[in-house]
Amino acid sequence: MLVLCNLKLRLFNINLLIIQTMKHLNLFVIMLFFCAVNFAQFPQRTSPEQQAVFTRFQNLYDSLSPWQKSMFLTEIKHIMDPEVTIIQPGETNSDPPSDAIILFDGTDINKEWEESEFGFGRPPVVKPAVTWVIKDGAMESGQRSGSVKTKRSFEDFQLHIEWKTPSVVTGEGQDRGNSGIIIQGIYEIQILDSYNNRTYRNGQAGAVYMQYAPLVNVSRKPEEWQTFDIFYTAPRFKDSTTYFTPPRITVVHNGVLIQNNVSIQGPTVSPGIPQYIIREHGPGPISLQQHGNPIAFRNIWIREL
Ligand code: MG
Repeated sequence: MLVLCNLKLRLFNINLLIIQTMKHLNLFVIMLFFCAVNFAQFPQRTSPEQQAVFTRFQNLYDSLSPWQKSMFLTEIKHIMDPEVTIIQPGETNSDPPSDAIILFDGTDINKEWEESEFGFGRPPVVKPAVTWVIKDGAMESGQRSGSVKTKRSFEDFQLHIEWKTPSVVTGEGQDRGNSGIIIQGIYEIQILDSYNNRTYRNGQAGAVYMQYAPLVNVSRKPEEWQTFDIFYTAPRFKDSTTYFTPPRITVVHNGVLIQNNVSIQGPTVSPGIPQYIIREHGPGPISLQQHGNPIAFRNIWIREL
């Protein structure tokens, strides 16, 4: 028992010694850091006294044990690393923070978006202007419009987008309020009127189309605005047909997590059981799918990560 008590006491003393050393070390590190910064920034103004202080700290460092030096280097690294970037949040969580790229603010569609015209047997041609229309600060595809895509290309990002399906409910399943957000022009996050509209589970609103059903169906009624907040990590490739790391995606629908950092298996295909063919690609645009239903979009912003 006595031996055990002695052992506990010795361990306590060792702990105390470590804590005290750490405290002194922290103080020492901070002092040395300011000396170093001062010396580096104003070498011509460094007085002999300052130089002497610096030399004293240098000597002190040299006298440290390897463990203390290791702790010192860890501490100094923490201090020297760049400060975390400061940005200003939006008024609400739906408003863009100060470092966001505004993709659509209810005014000019053509600033960030373009629409292509497709012809049989020829490559798509970018139209002179987007044919989607702006209504009440939202953009909406016309009857004869095509999909639109951003002029910019993106890799890793955080995207906020608001959308609503038409008040006049027509069609069923995939024919009701269908659109989609096509990430890098390849991977579709489904938009659908999934309010009282049963369809295949990995094809409803918020699905990584044909791959992952949303964790829950948190759809609002038609004509009510809904939000997607999408967090996307682009794939890295080993070679032209193999992922080093696949694309990963997290989706928050109306404030609720519905895709939790899932690993996308390959480009979106439809219909049938997906048999994915991976092809190496670089940055790509965000596309908004025209699927024959007039879906409205507003307040679209993105942060590159
Ligand atoms: Mg779709």
